[in-house]
Amino acid sequence: MAGILESLGYKLSSDPMNSDVVLLNTCAIRENAEQRIWGVLGQLKGRKRENPDMIVGICGCMPQEENATNKLLESYDFVDIVFGTHNRNNLPELIYQAYLTKSKVVEVLSTQGTILENAPKVRESKHKAWVNIMFGCDEFCTYCIVPYTRGRERSRHKDDIISEVKELVSNGYKEITLLGQNVNAYGKDLGSDYTFGDLLYDLDKTGIERIRYTTSHPRDLDEKTMQAMADCKSVMPHLHLPVQSGDDDILKIMNRKYTYDDYMTKINRLKELVPDISITTDIIVGFPNETEEQFQNTLKLCNNVGFEGAFTFIYSKREGTPAAKMPDSISEEEKHERLTRLNQIINAGYKAGHERFVGKVVEVLVDGPSKHGDDMMCGYSSHLKLTHFKSSDMSLIGKTVKVKVTEPKTWFMIGELCE
Ligand code: SAH
Ligand code: SF4
Repeated sequence: MAGILESLGYKLSSDPMNSDVVLLNTCAIRENAEQRIWGVLGQLKGRKRENPDMIVGICGCMPQEENATNKLLESYDFVDIVFGTHNRNNLPELIYQAYLTKSKVVEVLSTQGTILENAPKVRESKHKAWVNIMFGCDEFCTYCIVPYTRGRERSRHKDDIISEVKELVSNGYKEITLLGQNVNAYGKDLGSDYTFGDLLYDLDKTGIERIRYTTSHPRDLDEKTMQAMADCKSVMPHLHLPVQSGDDDILKIMNRKYTYDDYMTKINRLKELVPDISITTDIIVGFPNETEEQFQNTLKLCNNVGFEGAFTFIYSKREGTPAAKMPDSISEEEKHERLTRLNQIINAGYKAGHERFVGKVVEVLVDGPSKHGDDMMCGYSSHLKLTHFKSSDMSLIGKTVKVKVTEPKTWFMIGELCE
């Protein structure tokens, strides 16, 4: 969207409260993401009163929810444009209409359109880029709103992805992260037998230095993808593989379509193929009626896998999903207490993930000066470990340097730049 706005002549501003157009690109995954948006809208309301020419737009996943859109229409009069995830390509038209009519412009499509290739883009970094390979999700995990807000799975054509990556390489980019809600389902909707694993092998040949990808679904993570991680030098030895729960009954009610054993089998295979791999995950605690015993199975799984990081969440009820109708006997207090216990294990995993590199030399793609102290710079190692080291040489930004790890912390590691 920043790219589209730039092509219309707008410039990116760092001061939203004093901008001509403010777009809130929203997330609906959990209730607290939405709460934050209502808060920001409150602040914008005052600004809009002082500057009525400012265009305020709200887009992304929240407008795809009927309840949220109704609330926006009823209680947030000052919002000029409301548009959904499938209307982004229409942004120029929506802004034009808002200026022209001076009345609210609302456009939310319930079904997805086609993928717009070659849309103008603004990239935040000059050496790292996100590359969407697919949109939407067909999994329908019972707690999750994504299939409703993002629509069905749509994969981009491999040729479009490969040429985008080749162009990034020729523009000096070093690292790409392939994006999709379930990248392992890549290509299924195109009806060809070209899979995500094939894409990894092809992208490895483009000369890009580092490839990462997110997110993977444990059921769809296949042998070819795991093989590609072992075979392709550019595919980094880190995998984010959301497990959600370690209990078979909960996994079943979540509609995750795998068991504890299925998950462990894939983890063991990954460790066989990429022996030093780092594995991170997503976990939900307090799914409706989750018992202490079921929660214990999640802790057991964490200990068996040895996750080196995780995004951990308390279950958040999303209207319109099957889980929202499930009765729930677990108190909020209990859910918070479980989250605390889980995080103790996860945080120890983060630290262990740094400790294992002490004394070793890691390759760090330098992002820039570090907040960790004067004359310090930072970047991420191949295993996606945030690494700080002493240097003030700005010419290192965007380069891969060797760093000897000296000090492991919970959230990062410190090392010395090798000559
Ligand atoms: N497609 C990815 C990630 C989707 S959203 C996947 O399937 O793994 C990112 C994470 O948010 C999920 O992995 C899940 O852990 C969490 N999440 C999704 N819906 C949630 C809900 N209703 N309550 C709490 N956490 C949720
Ligand atoms: Fe949501 Fe991920 Fe499940 Fe899709 S696979 S429904 S995005 S949790």
